[in-house]
Amino acid sequence: MLALAGAPIVALALLVTLGSCDASQTKVCIVGSGIGGASAAHFLRKYSGRPQNELHIHVYERNSVVGGRMAMVDLLGDRFEAGASILHPKNLHTVHFVGLLGLKKKTSPDSETFGLWDGKKFVVRTMDGGSSFITKKIAGLINALGMLWRYGSDLFRMRSFVSQLLKRFLHFYDEGRTPYSSVKDMLESVELYGYTQHTLVRELLREGLSVQIITEIVTMITRINYGQNVSISGLAGAVSLCGSGDDLWAVEGGNWQMADGLIKLSNASLGLSDTVLSVVSKDGVYEVTSSSGKNRTCNAVIIAASLDEEKIVFSPSVDLPKRSMHHTFVTFVRGLVSRDYFGLKDAKLPDLIATLEVPGIPFISISVLKSYNATDNAYKVFSRASLSDEFLDKLFSVRRKTIRLNWAAYPQYNAPETFAPVILDGNHLYYVNSFENAASTMETSAVAAENVARLLLTRLSTDGAVFNSGLNTMAKRGSEEL
Ligand SMILES: Cc1cc2nc3c(=O)[nH]c(=O)nc-3n(C[C@H](O)[C@H](O)[C@H](O)COP(=O)(O)OP(=O)(O)OC[C@H]3O[C@@H](n4cnc5c(N)ncnc54)[C@H](O)[C@@H]3O)c2cc1C
Repeated sequence: MLALAGAPIVALALLVTLGSCDASQTKVCIVGSGIGGASAAHFLRKYSGRPQNELHIHVYERNSVVGGRMAMVDLLGDRFEAGASILHPKNLHTVHFVGLLGLKKKTSPDSETFGLWDGKKFVVRTMDGGSSFITKKIAGLINALGMLWRYGSDLFRMRSFVSQLLKRFLHFYDEGRTPYSSVKDMLESVELYGYTQHTLVRELLREGLSVQIITEIVTMITRINYGQNVSISGLAGAVSLCGSGDDLWAVEGGNWQMADGLIKLSNASLGLSDTVLSVVSKDGVYEVTSSSGKNRTCNAVIIAASLDEEKIVFSPSVDLPKRSMHHTFVTFVRGLVSRDYFGLKDAKLPDLIATLEVPGIPFISISVLKSYNATDNAYKVFSRASLSDEFLDKLFSVRRKTIRLNWAAYPQYNAPETFAPVILDGNHLYYVNSFENAASTMETSAVAAENVARLLLTRLSTDGAVFNSGLNTMAKRGSEEL
């Protein structure tokens, strides 16, 4: 690995001698238009301060739309997030993107009820406060007391574990940070690497949490957010727990708009429905061949997609540690969940039905996305395998429309985690998604992409890169609020 601490930053203008392609322009090719690729394009443009005729950025996207795992689904006229749906208030890059792009944030409703199903009964169930302000407040208080009675101070210990890790994570936004060519070094710099080497359950037991809260609340959350149980790493687990707090938000109209806006803002060229087939390194440049049949010569290539299920041919070949992606099946249903399935005759079903890690439960969670009337809701169901019509007919008493998606969603976490290099070939082939073994979220992709953008510019340049102090101000604000 390259030791980059304190490496001089060189003006891109001096880079023009790199390789044998057009000497007046540096060309960076980015594979993938998800939040990782879009952030890479944005930060390259921003930090280099160079226009397109000096730094040409091209983004390849095999789909006909941008956004990758930020995608929407249309369910009988209403559009819902099909992939990445929620963001944390301390996700400072994405918070910043939304402001920069003039997008609107929407926050999750705070009146959701939830039930924790063990296959036979609800082991935990919160009550609904109805529509009045007063009854809502009373129900909120009773629900909080109920949780306190069941889990006691473990709730605070769980929160404190998450806060400690979040505080360290916020150092990724510090001004003038060294760019890293290894995820291990990057995580070590903020004292988070150790948490990728042990399981979440081990870390939480060390913090003094009881087995009960771990097997119930924590497991419920890791199942919903990563489809996996508490044997994921401590860091992925803490990130997952962050996705269950207050003030979570999403972009009104769809999170994919962040990718769309950033690519446009960076003035990159974009090739939709164009799959990269091979990247061949020769004479200090890269020849990128894609399904459009057009070859492109680039000084640097950034892979902003998970390579685990991809068929890109690299020459010379690249060596990656084996990683499998966890497949999450998302089923959208417009209709009504059957009370009979849950053995409830009259009581209202919770808005979110989550499940314990118990063999034989075919789904992970069911949540109400929108309620139209007493017998008509839009639902999102997560599961680890495709749900058959036969099962869905038992789960739903009414089913007007069903849409099934199968996502290669996030890595199958397996502590101790090993990480692919950020620089795949020792030259200028970069890999944003090596960071996904630490955690897979929209924000972590943006953080990894920002690191790659700085690393690339640092390695290509000899003076004068522009760093924006705005991020530092946001990071300070974030830490102070914790
Ligand atoms: C169901 C689900 C729920 C999730 N929930 C959340 C959540 O609530 N909050 C959160 O923060 N995160 C969530 N995530 C995780 C989050 O979606 C990802 O971590 C993040 O979006 C990854 O972004 P990326 O840009 O790194 O990768 P991607 O979004 O996967 O983008 C990679 C892009 O590269 C393209 N591509 C791949 N190969 C090629 C090729 N050869 N040529 C051209 N293009 C190519 C792909 O089509 C894709 O568009 C969820 C994910 C899933 C699937």
